[in-house]
Amino acid sequence: MRKPERVMVEQHACSTRDDPPNASQSVMSRVWRNLLTSGGRTSERSPDYLRITLLNLIQSAAIIVWGTFLVLNLVVMREGSLGRLTIDVAGLAVAVGAIVALRRGVSVSLVSRITHVCLFVFLLGLAIVGANNPLTMTLPLIYPALAFLLLDDIRRGLAGTLLMTAAINIALSSGFGPGLRDSGTLLDGALTFTLAMCFQAAVLALYVHHRKQAMTRLREVSDQLSELASHDPLTGLYNRRTFVDVLERELSRHDRDDRQLAFLLFDIDRFKAYNDHYGHPQGDELLRRLAIAVGQVFSRGEDTVFRLGGEEFGVVFHTETPEQAAAMADQLLAAVEAMGEPAPVGPHATVSISAGLYLVGHGRSMTPNHVYHQADAALYRAKTSGRARWLYAND
Ligand code: GH3
Ligand code: MG
Ligand code: MG
Repeated sequence: MRKPERVMVEQHACSTRDDPPNASQSVMSRVWRNLLTSGGRTSERSPDYLRITLLNLIQSAAIIVWGTFLVLNLVVMREGSLGRLTIDVAGLAVAVGAIVALRRGVSVSLVSRITHVCLFVFLLGLAIVGANNPLTMTLPLIYPALAFLLLDDIRRGLAGTLLMTAAINIALSSGFGPGLRDSGTLLDGALTFTLAMCFQAAVLALYVHHRKQAMTRLREVSDQLSELASHDPLTGLYNRRTFVDVLERELSRHDRDDRQLAFLLFDIDRFKAYNDHYGHPQGDELLRRLAIAVGQVFSRGEDTVFRLGGEEFGVVFHTETPEQAAAMADQLLAAVEAMGEPAPVGPHATVSISAGLYLVGHGRSMTPNHVYHQADAALYRAKTSGRARWLYAND
């Protein structure tokens, strides 16, 4: 015989996505972390973590570079032409804008693409404008890494790298760079540069490919884990853990809903005897078939069916009126009877269930625990008064 106080609804703590900063962290490391993660917008667990970190690093470096140029041009050299000053200020504005945009939640892909285009133009421009210094020509060698990581796409990373390589080769063969005037040096330079760019592109393409595969696998495993954590493996129904979450959510929005929120708790009658008579595997099969039958009665999108324990199930559902909720309980008992599963003991020819129905009143705050225990008490009365019936929970 079941005892009403036997089962407790477990409340489980929610963990926040990002851990709060540790008090012992130094101010510097907090500033550093805050900057790299766009004010805590992403964490190591987020798939965009790498891109957001990289964007913040690039744009912080850009602020230093453009700021230094601006100070040099304005203060030290005092020869800032309007054109150079405009470029410095525009560079600063783009860098600050990107950091602010990321913090405000603008799409990471959009900020990445804009940053990528700016970098492409900046590195190419710097190589061509500064071509009188052969070392400046090597600056675009940092481009492939930025392109692949920012665009997070193999084809676009390859296209950008090839475009940059072609542009630099055209610039070289057009006579830029004093050290590359004779054709032997020019060929050497062009070949070395092209090889270095192609080698980087190949390594990065491989890296992005593997990273994407690993992320996909990780996502699959994570989906499987959350499926396992929220579902009962035998019947495929939601489990008790999900029940608390779903009921909590429904209770919290119930007062904004005109409809009736109902909870039906039910339990197979004399299931121990069924198992003893037909064997445990047959008992499992009955549980599976019962789950299907319940799903057919409660088949609307918002109806949620749970396996709460061994042979105990629950349904959270909405109806227009209390009478409709009662009709649903009647339908469920009839559907179980229609399964026609012979009962080995008891006064009924077929396997039956007993149930408790709790209708959640409007204007009262309530916990899942309270709702569960009210329905459980009604189920207990249904069992003691003869089984194969449902009773209201009188709150
Ligand atoms: P009552 O009408 O009072 O509910 O009687 P009962 O026999 O159904 O209740 P009791 O609590 O005495 O027994 C429940 C049985 O359910 C005992 C257990 O073997 C069985 N059971 C629990 N989980 C499973 C399961 O996953 N598979 C099978 N086959 N049986 C299960
Ligand atoms: Mg039972
Ligand atoms: Mg039971």
